[in-house]
Amino acid sequence: MHQHGIGAWVARRRLRSPDKIALIHGAGATVTYAQFADAVDRVSAVLREHGVGAGDAVAYLGENSPEFLQVMFGAAQVGAVFVPVNTRLAPPEVGYVLADCAARVLIHDPDFATPVAAALPAARPPHVVVTGEGTPDRPGLAHLTRTVEPGCTGQVDIGPQDPAAIVYTSGTTGRAKGAVLTHGNLTWVALNCVVDYDVVSTDVALMISPLFHVASLGMGALPVILKGATMVVEKGFEPGRALAQIARHGVTMLSGVPTTYQLMADHPDWPSTDLSTLAKLTCGGSAVPARILHAYEERGLSFSQGYGMTEAAPGATALPPAMTRAKQGSVGLPHFFTDVRITDPAGVVLPAGEIGQIEVAGPNVFPGYHGLPAATAEAFTVDGWFRSGDLGRLDADGYLYVSGRLKDMIISGGENIYPAELELLLGEIDGVVSAAVIGVPDDRWGEVPWAIVTVREGAAVDTDAVRAHLDGRIARYKLPKNVVIVDELPRTASGKVRKAELRARFAG
Ligand code: ATP
Repeated sequence: MHQHGIGAWVARRRLRSPDKIALIHGAGATVTYAQFADAVDRVSAVLREHGVGAGDAVAYLGENSPEFLQVMFGAAQVGAVFVPVNTRLAPPEVGYVLADCAARVLIHDPDFATPVAAALPAARPPHVVVTGEGTPDRPGLAHLTRTVEPGCTGQVDIGPQDPAAIVYTSGTTGRAKGAVLTHGNLTWVALNCVVDYDVVSTDVALMISPLFHVASLGMGALPVILKGATMVVEKGFEPGRALAQIARHGVTMLSGVPTTYQLMADHPDWPSTDLSTLAKLTCGGSAVPARILHAYEERGLSFSQGYGMTEAAPGATALPPAMTRAKQGSVGLPHFFTDVRITDPAGVVLPAGEIGQIEVAGPNVFPGYHGLPAATAEAFTVDGWFRSGDLGRLDADGYLYVSGRLKDMIISGGENIYPAELELLLGEIDGVVSAAVIGVPDDRWGEVPWAIVTVREGAAVDTDAVRAHLDGRIARYKLPKNVVIVDELPRTASGKVRKAELRARFAG
């Protein structure tokens, strides 16, 4: 019997640091590593009673909570595959995920009872279990959990190649695909974080991003548990509460997307909150606008910007905080155990400085999409590198700069325009809050760049002012032909701009 999966971590933590606080949640309740591992054992026992065995899918739909993590580790202990479901999905989308992964059990927060009822697939519906106390018609996980002998649940062989999770991509570019992540993938992404973010057992991490995104799961929760550090689990993100929690618990580690950081810096409590314990800030998902970086720098805080994708569990690169200034605009070096290269459309590896497709390889990179052999084959090169679908370049020191998605690149009069370059410059213009650059069809040039921006109330931002600001800093063909002010940019749950939607809106 060998347990080389992530399910074994909690029992090993119980041996090493039983009384250390693993989780802080709600109004300040604490869970030690011993209590956490016991709860995980009980969840494993309940899953077994529902007939869950190796390879079966266990779906979870809920906000961040200790139960979210207990179910993930409980599923891992019995060799099942954990499927975290995005809480923002509409019922038909939830139904699609449940049917696609053939979930055997669905565990959900009572808050989601209505969408769940509408989402259950007609063929092979999963057993449904409610978290906590449950509902009048359904006893909750808290009542179902059995008392079990420690360690009696890990009666199954699990190796690094076995699937641990299926994470559905956010769907910026079409129908969600289930990325299979193995126990090995999740182990290596945690190790990458331990090395590159220097995670230690005295760290206190504030979990403000949804755990159903692999960023907060793989790069937040897993390294914390691996090291026996402490996690403050926030149900959802509320900027004022996040600031209060940082001061209250002496938070050292925080990871988020640019929007979360911006909302905290814009909050009235920002100037008065003690942020002196914060040491490790990571930010990824999309480029970080300069104004956010500056707001944190003024408080003596620098980000480690990172770049990645669900398929790499998700971290591919990280910028050491000491290099934030020297390598401004870069997403950093490939993670310690990960490689990045740049290729041209023929697959030829390009030298430093040249823009091409970003490819990623390493033990954190997934084996493929669930049930989609053709999409999987297309995602990898013949020599096994994952094609990210993003464009970028490496500089002479090996630092990566992301130029945007291949599909978002604008070709105007035969010249390539990379939206990310323009978006960074637009973000520096006084009054501009956020910016998205898209290609709009044009009879003469094929496509021309338009900037869609949100602005600070009362700010005077128009096409002429923007063009005047950028003129001389970039080639003239890159100057936005039109600057459109909107109230809000359409975004995904993780804050990424839905460019396809913008293109459709402005194509006419
Ligand atoms: P789908 O695959 O359905 O289109 P998605 O690509 O948004 O969804 P994710 O895995 O959530 O799925 O996001 C990964 C993508 O996010 C990357 O491929 C890249 O385009 C973008 N991205 C991630 N980090 C950064 C960053 N630091 N700067 C710019 N873009 C980033």
